[in-house]
Amino acid sequence: SIKGKYGKHFALYDDKLRGTLLRRQAITDGMETALAKGQFEVYLQPKYQIRDGRLAGAEALVRWNHPEWGLQPPGEFIPLFERNGFITKLDQYVWERVCALLQEWDRKGYPSINISVNVSRLDIYNTDLADVLTSLVRRYGLSPDRLHLEITESAYTDTSRQLIETLGTLRRLGFVIEMDDFGSGYSSLNMLAEMPIDVLKLDMKFIQTEITRPTGQGILRFIVDLARWMKLRVVAEGVETREQLERLQNDGCDYAQGYYFAKPMPVESFVSVLTVQDPPADMENSRSDDSA
Ligand code: C2E
Ligand code: MG
Ligand code: MG
Ligand code: MG
Repeated sequence: SIKGKYGKHFALYDDKLRGTLLRRQAITDGMETALAKGQFEVYLQPKYQIRDGRLAGAEALVRWNHPEWGLQPPGEFIPLFERNGFITKLDQYVWERVCALLQEWDRKGYPSINISVNVSRLDIYNTDLADVLTSLVRRYGLSPDRLHLEITESAYTDTSRQLIETLGTLRRLGFVIEMDDFGSGYSSLNMLAEMPIDVLKLDMKFIQTEITRPTGQGILRFIVDLARWMKLRVVAEGVETREQLERLQNDGCDYAQGYYFAKPMPVESFVSVLTVQDPPADMENSRSDDSA
């Protein structure tokens, strides 16, 4: 019978599905307590200026240090938080943590860098972002351009007035706007022209697959030229090999971030990168294996 033939697979599938649902429920049930208990941890991934190999900044990436499951990357819980609205709270927590770090480092006389934080599209529609962010940087005595706001490309698909206006306001206030995951498939040149942004952050998949193909190389050059013409800076994300770095260098890309240099790392490890006396002659020196 069919049941006899496939029953085991159905059962397996059911178990897997049940497991997923239980886990999702546990994530939702645990999120508020986790925030209150400080289980969400900000990791930092260095970003380098390609021209001279100097540290240019970092990206803040959240992890959940879960008491039972261990350190969790955000791929599973962020999409859930975007559905239940908790992302707004978590993002504000991350931004505040980042501001506190920048203030502390300024006081200690460490090199002044900027940090990119992720902004969910929900943050744009649910809150008065300009208000929240302005009072935050003011509270920590920071100039707004120390915070780079990463908004993923797919958020721009509906080019609503509200999105354009909010980004325009933030930009006029001095925050730096980065379009994240550019080239992942949603944007049009028309949208790019309309959006008040400062930085294009090239999608990882683009870096890892396209630029080693002949057509992809043409496209990279085209994007960098276009960005220049639009007075945008270009960051490459997900750089893993020397070959990729050389391509980016040849084509005039401004900044690079990726495992080739360092993985996202805990704050204390990043402080060592930030405070190292001699800037690395070879950018490879700053490689780190503090894995996420
Ligand atoms: P994203 O903003 O595009 O961040 C880049 C992701 O690529 C990070 O994954 C980073 O660890 C990873 N990555 C960096 N370099 C390399 C590389 O060379 N190779 C590979 N394979 N991966 C690399 P992560 O930390 O797992 O974060 C995934 C996504 O979760 C982020 O993508 C971002 O969209 C979201 N996210 C992370 N933290 C936050 C946050 O605090 N708030 C919000 N709203 N979203 C966040
Ligand atoms: Mg992002
Ligand atoms: Mg990012
Ligand atoms: Mg990205």
